[in-house]
Amino acid sequence: MRFASIGSGSGGNGLLIQQADTCVLLDCGFSLKETEMRLARLAIEPSQIDAILVTHEHQDHASGVSRLAAKYQIPVLMTYGTMRAMQQQSIKQIESLLEEDLLNLIDSHQGFEVADLFIQPFPVPHDAREPVQFTISDGRAKLGVLTDTGSITPHILSSLKNCHGLWLECNHDLDMLHQGAYPLSLKQRVGGRLGHLDNQTSASLLAQIKHADLQFVVAAHISAQNNTPDLARQALSHAMGWQAEQILLADQQAGLSWLNI
Ligand SMILES: [Zn+2]
Ligand SMILES: [Zn+2]
Repeated sequence: MRFASIGSGSGGNGLLIQQADTCVLLDCGFSLKETEMRLARLAIEPSQIDAILVTHEHQDHASGVSRLAAKYQIPVLMTYGTMRAMQQQSIKQIESLLEEDLLNLIDSHQGFEVADLFIQPFPVPHDAREPVQFTISDGRAKLGVLTDTGSITPHILSSLKNCHGLWLECNHDLDMLHQGAYPLSLKQRVGGRLGHLDNQTSASLLAQIKHADLQFVVAAHISAQNNTPDLARQALSHAMGWQAEQILLADQQAGLSWLNI
């Protein structure tokens, strides 16, 4: 199994997971043209994608989903709450997915298969209607994905056990957020229980789930205003007992190139 990112951050997200002929795209927060360009950079044709998984309705995760799915006839999977929220944002886009029979609803606790991949959703506390994150496994390796959560629940901890790769939100550094230029209400939203993970919370999660077979840790969804890649790396590498450079970075512009897991 391998994974790569077309970009990560509040300007747009998209994570590819591939095993043999099976390829899924987790979120798509870029325009159609931008997505096509970013997929080409990773040598993926949109027609190779078997399914698009959507974590939640926020623009940086969902804005590009409908157009990509409609153009290439790709099935889309999301929770009922995410569908309702996306309907409110743009009824037309969801209606066209429904008309073309491309929309599949998932239960936020029920695992499912997309060809060769087993996918397990789990709910997260975030200010969206019914947000989930996912673990993806090919039966041998397991990748855990966690972004857009304001806090860590016992269920998140148990869902992310025994992963061989972790895609972990390091949204902000708490001091940078508090001292930064965001208005107070936005600081409270981002730093709140339904907001985003800061470096230290992410590191403490990692310290609780690390194990000898964890190969890759990627710091993702890093804020350009309230964090630096170095601070994210420092926090996660400290939790792992690794050198800072061993923590990989998912970049907003460049994404992350393929990693075999
Ligand atoms: Zn986001
Ligand atoms: Zn979000």
